[in-house]
Amino acid sequence: MADTLSFVGPDIPSAEDLRNCIHCGFCLPACPTYIATGHELESPRGRLHLIEAVRTGRVEASSQLLGHLDLCLQCRACETACPSAVPYGRIMEDARASIMANPARSQPKSWWLRGFVLRNVIARPRVLRVALFPARLYSRSGLQRLVRGKLASRLPSRLARLESLAPDLRRSPYRQRGSLTTPVAPKARVALLGGCVHGEFFPQTHEATVRVLDALDCEVVAPPDQGCCGALHQHAGDASAGRDLARRNIEAFKRAGVDAVIVNAAGCGAAMKEYDHLLRDDPVWAKRAEQFSAQVKDVLEYVADRIDEPSLRSRLGAVDLDVTLQDSCHLAHAQGVRDAPRTILGAIPGLRLSEMTTPDRCCGSAGLYSAVQPEMSARVLEAKMDDVVGTGAAVICTANPGCTLQLQAGVRRRGVDAEVQHVIEILSQSLNESA
Ligand code: SF4
Ligand code: SF4
Repeated sequence: MADTLSFVGPDIPSAEDLRNCIHCGFCLPACPTYIATGHELESPRGRLHLIEAVRTGRVEASSQLLGHLDLCLQCRACETACPSAVPYGRIMEDARASIMANPARSQPKSWWLRGFVLRNVIARPRVLRVALFPARLYSRSGLQRLVRGKLASRLPSRLARLESLAPDLRRSPYRQRGSLTTPVAPKARVALLGGCVHGEFFPQTHEATVRVLDALDCEVVAPPDQGCCGALHQHAGDASAGRDLARRNIEAFKRAGVDAVIVNAAGCGAAMKEYDHLLRDDPVWAKRAEQFSAQVKDVLEYVADRIDEPSLRSRLGAVDLDVTLQDSCHLAHAQGVRDAPRTILGAIPGLRLSEMTTPDRCCGSAGLYSAVQPEMSARVLEAKMDDVVGTGAAVICTANPGCTLQLQAGVRRRGVDAEVQHVIEILSQSLNESA
C-alpha cells in the first residue's frame, strides 16, 4: 500500500481559494499553533503552502505532511486575521476529505480511529447513550467527585489530564423531541437542534434555550428525525458522512416548517450554515441546502436581535456576577458573530463583563482535538487560562459545548474558583431572578 499520495475525489481544495493567499503572514500572530511552536509549517501560511504543493503534484501527502495538517485546530482565527479573505476552514476540510477519499492510502491510525468513533458512536444516538453509560455511572456513583477531590494528587499526570476532560454526567440528559413550548400568540415558530453529545453533557443549555425562546413567545419544536449535524465528521475529513447527516437534517427541519433553526453549539451552527458548500455539487440537494443554511441561527444572534422585546427585557432580574467571555471560535471566526453575546450579557442587570486580552483565541478544545492532540491542546489551554485568571471572573461564558468542557478542565487543573456556563444559561438565570 502506498505510503504517500495526492488528493483525490470531489473535494480537492480549489485553486481559486488557494490563489487568494498573498503570503503576507498577517495570519501568523493569530494562530495558536504558530504561537506555541514558532514553526512556519505549523502556521496557516505554511499549511496553505503544503496543501497547494500536494494539489499541484509537487509533493505527495506523506505522514509527516499530514502531521502538520493534523496539528491545526481548525479554529479559523486565521480567517479573521486575513486581509485577502482566504477561506482557510473550507480549504483545510477539503484537504482532509481528499486524503480520506483515497482508497490507496493506509490512513494514519488516529484518523482511522477518529473516523470510526464519529460514524459508529457520535452519529448514532442509541450507541452513544450506551457508550456514555459507564461515564454516567462514574459521575453518579460519587467516584468522579472522589477522584477529583481526595485522589486528585495521586493520579499519574496523563491520567489526571484525561480525567479532567470528562464531563460531569449527574444531571438527566435532555432528549426531548416534538413540541417544546406552546405560547398563546406565537411570534415565530422555530426548531431546536438537539445535537449529539450536547443534550447528554449539558442538558441545562437546552433547558435555558427553550426558556428564553419561550419568553420571546416563540413556538419551539425539536424535529424527532433530526440527528448529529456532522461538524466533527467534516472537520475530520469524512465528507461523505457529513453529507449524509446534512441531507437527513435538511429533510427533518424542512418537515417542521419553521422560520429559523436555532443552534446553541457554535461548532454545529457553523457547519450547518455551510451545508450549502458541502452539498454544492449535488443536483438534488444543492438548492435545498442553500435555503436551509440561510435559516440557521445561533441562539445568541437570534436572541440578541430581540433583546429589547418587552416580554423578555421587562423580565430580566439582577445577576450579581463578574464574568468573562470566551469567544467560541466557530461563533466569532466561522460565523462572524461577536457582538451578540456581549449585547446579551450587557442587558443583564447587575452583571459585570471583564474582557480577556485575547477572548477570541482558541481554548484548545476544537472538537476531538483535545483527545487526539493532547499535548498541543494542553499548551493552548494553559495560555487561555492565564488570560482567564487575569480577569478575576467567577464565571467564564461560552457558546459551545466543546469550549465548556475544555475550560472546565482548565479550571480544575489550575484550581481556579470559577464556573463555566453558556451565555444563554446566564440569561435564563436572569429570568429566574426576576420570577
Ligand atoms: S485554523 Fe487556527 S490553528 Fe489552524 S492554521 Fe488557522 S489559526 Fe492556526
Ligand atoms: S492566509 Fe491570508 S493572512 Fe495568511 S498569509 Fe495568506 S493572505 Fe496572508
